[in-house]
Amino acid sequence: MGFAHIEGQARAVQLLRRALASGRVAHAYLFYGPSGVGKRLTALQFLKALYCQALPDDSCDACAACRKVASGNHPDVLRLAPEGGTLGIEAIRALQRRLGYRPYEGVRTAVLLEDCDALSLPAANALLKTLEEPPAEALLLLLTCRKAALPLTVVSRCQPVPFQPLTPAQRQALFERQGLDRETAAAAAAFVQSGLPLPAGEALPLLRELRQQALALLQALARGEVLPAFLEARALAGQRERCELLLHWLALLCRDLAVVRLSPATGLYNPTLRQALSALAAQLSPAALLAAFTRIDQARQRLAAHGNAQLLFEALLLELQPLLSP
Ligand SMILES: [Zn+2]
Repeated sequence: MGFAHIEGQARAVQLLRRALASGRVAHAYLFYGPSGVGKRLTALQFLKALYCQALPDDSCDACAACRKVASGNHPDVLRLAPEGGTLGIEAIRALQRRLGYRPYEGVRTAVLLEDCDALSLPAANALLKTLEEPPAEALLLLLTCRKAALPLTVVSRCQPVPFQPLTPAQRQALFERQGLDRETAAAAAAFVQSGLPLPAGEALPLLRELRQQALALLQALARGEVLPAFLEARALAGQRERCELLLHWLALLCRDLAVVRLSPATGLYNPTLRQALSALAAQLSPAALLAAFTRIDQARQRLAAHGNAQLLFEALLLELQPLLSP
């Protein structure tokens, strides 16, 4: 895919490509910035370009080295991620033993350390020794969404690579490049944009499905059709996760409806639904939208406090009906 396919991170890409082109790749980089903006994708792209046998500062995606990095089979690329929320000292010691050997194929042994803010204190101290005196052929890529949680001693020994927040459209393009279909990518982008962590891959189609369901529910209420909504609520009985997601989408859509109504120049969480949202917003008053948002948010809080999903949802519909119905 090449660096040209990294979305919205021109500064980080420029910094990394310059290092490759000049042959001055540092021993350690800290990729930091919000969640879901392409840090892991850029790190893998950087490694492909580093090992690529055809191009000096980009990947050809055709040579053996590019394909091995892309498929996770390059013998000189080690990936480390937290297990059970922490990265312990044993993992760092194993890593240091491996860095004691020469690379098998490439010029460097690269370590991709995801969520490095999860390092335990002993693990961070052990890693610090490697950062202070890195083996000549080592390359460490540390990735974090929480730079402030890292010890300053670790931060100061890495070259910083800042990542910027993305717009929903840029996020969507990024997800599509990672293989999601257009609608799922749009739903995933809106979800991340709202500040929630993205669920695991297999739950992504559910995000898309529930976003559509939430929109259909608001449209039905605005038409005065309450019965389908109640049947929907019954179907949610016991399905806590679905109910949580549906409430989240209802809140996000109400927020976007209010924005369309009151502040059209402000960005939407769900820009791909703008047309449907505009049609719906035209039927509703700003005061009703605000009141609906408040009710939905209260229902989310009650559900989080272990309320009964079905009862909560039915009660919410009773509250929303007079606000949204014609
Ligand atoms: Zn290549």
